[in-house]
Amino acid sequence: MHAAASPPGSQTPQAYDSEFALQLEKLRELLGTYLRAEDIERVAEAFRFSAEAHKDQFRISGDPYFSHPLAVAGILTGWHLDAQALMAALLHDVTEDTEITPAEIGERFGKVTAELVDGVSKLDKIEFQSIEDAQAENFRKMLLAMARDVRVILIKLADRLHNMRTLDTLRPDKRRRIARETLEIYAPIANRLGLNNLYRELQELAFRHVWPLRYRVLSKAIKAARGNRREVVGKILAGIKARLAEAGIEAEVMGREKHLYGIYRKMRGKSLTFSQVLDIYGFRVIVRDVPTCYLVLGALHGLYKPVPGKFKDYIAIPKGNGYQSLHTTLIGPYGTPVEVQIRTTEMHHVAEAGVASHWLYKDDKSLSELQQRTHKWLQSLLELQSASGDSAEFLEHLKIDLFPGEVYVFTPKGRILPLPRGSTPVDFAYAVHTDIGNRCIACRINHELMPLRTELRNGDQVEVITATHANPNPAWLSYVKTGKARSQIRHFLKTTQQEESVALGERLLAQALRPLDLSFERIGEPVWDKFVLECGAKSKTEVLTDIGLGKRLPAIVARRLAERIEKGEAAVEARAQGPILIRGSEGMAVQLAHCCRPIPGDPIVGVIKKGQGLVVHLADCPSISIRGRGERGKWVDVEWERDSGKLFEAAIKIEAENRRGVLAKVAAEIAEAGSNIQHVTMDDEQGVYTSLYFTLQVSNRVHLARILRALRAIPEVVRIARVRE
Ligand code: MN
Repeated sequence: MHAAASPPGSQTPQAYDSEFALQLEKLRELLGTYLRAEDIERVAEAFRFSAEAHKDQFRISGDPYFSHPLAVAGILTGWHLDAQALMAALLHDVTEDTEITPAEIGERFGKVTAELVDGVSKLDKIEFQSIEDAQAENFRKMLLAMARDVRVILIKLADRLHNMRTLDTLRPDKRRRIARETLEIYAPIANRLGLNNLYRELQELAFRHVWPLRYRVLSKAIKAARGNRREVVGKILAGIKARLAEAGIEAEVMGREKHLYGIYRKMRGKSLTFSQVLDIYGFRVIVRDVPTCYLVLGALHGLYKPVPGKFKDYIAIPKGNGYQSLHTTLIGPYGTPVEVQIRTTEMHHVAEAGVASHWLYKDDKSLSELQQRTHKWLQSLLELQSASGDSAEFLEHLKIDLFPGEVYVFTPKGRILPLPRGSTPVDFAYAVHTDIGNRCIACRINHELMPLRTELRNGDQVEVITATHANPNPAWLSYVKTGKARSQIRHFLKTTQQEESVALGERLLAQALRPLDLSFERIGEPVWDKFVLECGAKSKTEVLTDIGLGKRLPAIVARRLAERIEKGEAAVEARAQGPILIRGSEGMAVQLAHCCRPIPGDPIVGVIKKGQGLVVHLADCPSISIRGRGERGKWVDVEWERDSGKLFEAAIKIEAENRRGVLAKVAAEIAEAGSNIQHVTMDDEQGVYTSLYFTLQVSNRVHLARILRALRAIPEVVRIARVRE
């Protein structure tokens, strides 16, 4: 971590070699207690390889650089980690600081070791910047997710521990940054893994560097109070031991020293004074089995009065990290609170070493139970249901994806975003901001241009490239993962479609306004407001959208707008909600129904029909009274415009005596009445009477009535009627 190529100072190459030869012997001896001879040889080879590779490098303290990986491996032997993890620890900085490649590590020391080294150096590369709590949690998850093998985390934690132990040689600002990171990231991870000793030491070291003054004051105060305490502790200890012996319980009893950071946190969190915190005495009782734990509890509750509500049974309900114990608080002599933890030896191992207790107590007969518990703990950590607690290899289970559902990636400013697994830069862009998503055109992942559909991985640094006029691409919908991106893209596309409809509607309306000598621009907002209100729409935009989508007829809208302008506001007011006036010259927009052929003067209704526009029927037309019932909403109030000067078609049927010249007589009368014949047919029957069918052009109902009256006056005409079908 802190390599410096400064000259060796007092060290000479020979001294360097001989010192490490000694260290290697020590390491071999240590490993001899729990590793096979061949594994020890492989570790020794990694030792020599790493010592050689780091030969010319020195730490800022002036120590040979190799002392660092060696110390890290030493910490791991304390947890009885396996040969692969030890080799990886020895080699963990080799690929970073020397010419040696990961491939070379793989060839020499095997694939697993190389993967572990790679995992550790990946963790080294990512840097934590933010101090927000939520960001710290994301960062911890990112580290755990990237590790993929718990051993990577264990090596990283040992690495951090050694760096913390040797932090004094660094500049104060660097010290504070690393210490803070340790407090926020690594200590909580150690806690989560159940590595309690490590957790406490990291906290203690970090506390000293983050708040040097507070640390000094507190440690002085503790030293001063120790004499007093020793007396009280001795008295309580003797009391407990005597009572347990009396009850015939075999147990190990010890006083617990409170560590500085714990005291500090208690003072801060519960606003207690130093003496209030220090006046709590802690003891631990370790026994053989679970039933004895409860016997001890009973015996102690008989010795000192328990504080109500302070008893906790973490044996029946273990903590999330696998921790088990009975906790109780008693009122000791002099009225001082006495906290007692009661647990079995095995629970003690888990409490102290956590996940590492698997390696540490490998020869323990209760391994399988411990193993199962670790499984359970891992499962809860991983939030996985799939891994079953069968006899599968333990190490296999350490290679689980810790957070299978999520990936954690960096923004260019160092913020961490959690995203669903499988997310792409497009998801990332929308997660940052909707505008960034909508305008994104490309991206860089770890400073390299990559396609937008690339799947993001843990620890990636993602930078989105945007362009001002860029738009979301519908193709993105095929690969985005987050609901936010999906809905935002959809929303954009829909809005765009609406905008296009509005534009089209505007064009259609402008076209319809032209014959009325109006331009779209000439229609002021007050006219629009009235119109919108009157036709029941929400806005001008909605009216235009409707026109664009063919739901409203531009001609009718144009006409009604024109009316507003011609007649002025007052007239508009009076006619508000009034019917649409039918002039008969609307062209395609308005059709007079063929079934009933209405003419001005007839009571009429309008029906909006998809693809046909407004169809005007007689109010009592049977075709609408039956079929139109279900579509009431589409009915429109219509009214004839007075004296439009247009002609309408009307059909009549005449029954007359079948004589020569009748047709001519009728036609002459029609012409006389100022109408044109559009069409005529007659029955071919050679009977007494014949039927004549005329389609005439009339200006209105009055006009038609006049024609009919004139036709009735013809002697041969027997019956006459308007035809509606
Ligand atoms: Mn290191």
